[in-house]
Amino acid sequence: MSLETIRTALNKACEKAGRNTDDVTLVAVSKVQPNDRVAAILDQGHRVFGENKVQEAAGKWPAFRESYDGIDLHLIGPLQTNKARQAMELAQSIHTLDRPKLATTIARLAQEMGQCPALYIQVNTGMEPQKAGCLPADADAFIKTAQAMDLPVRGLMCIPPADEESSLHFALLAKIAARNGLAGLSMGMSSDFESAVALGATHVRVGSAIFGDRVYEQ
Ligand SMILES: *Cc1c(COP(=O)(O)O)cnc(C)c1O
Repeated sequence: MSLETIRTALNKACEKAGRNTDDVTLVAVSKVQPNDRVAAILDQGHRVFGENKVQEAAGKWPAFRESYDGIDLHLIGPLQTNKARQAMELAQSIHTLDRPKLATTIARLAQEMGQCPALYIQVNTGMEPQKAGCLPADADAFIKTAQAMDLPVRGLMCIPPADEESSLHFALLAKIAARNGLAGLSMGMSSDFESAVALGATHVRVGSAIFGDRVYEQ
């Protein structure tokens, strides 16, 4: 697959859902991908990327920013409070706000730095113990907590369980967002971004379908 293929599929999914293509942002998830593959996507003009780990992002993106203008970086992996400052310096969006302690830390840093990335609250829609995210039952209260801290909460994010029909999780996330008046929905990956678009995704996070399989070093 390629960027072009995914763009075309994404545009088709938008059309089918009666949605404007400008309303869905394609976040190219570049975690673990070698720099030459990332540079190839940058050379095709794409500028919106997603990374899982602050450390990896910090080792990669400052150098790319020197060569390419307008890079829009999204952090989509679990965030430790002691990495929050670095995350906020690196990224334009953080998709994984999921607990009061992290919200408090980000709010304090935002005051200090005079800026804050766009924030998405991660909801653990599948209630999986190993996964980050607030529980669906706690989402309304946590959204209000974060908003009361003046944080720029733009929407919600989820990663459905691998073995379940993801559209049920997308629908649940959309429902929670709607009742809280949140417009952003970060949902959908390589295998299910089309159904995410049908259910209202504003950000799809697509990695392997654009870059090829991730090769993890042993
Ligand atoms: C890796 C990752 C993706 C991309 O997954 P693909 O299946 O390669 O598209 C999307 N979202 C998150 C949170 C990820 O960690």
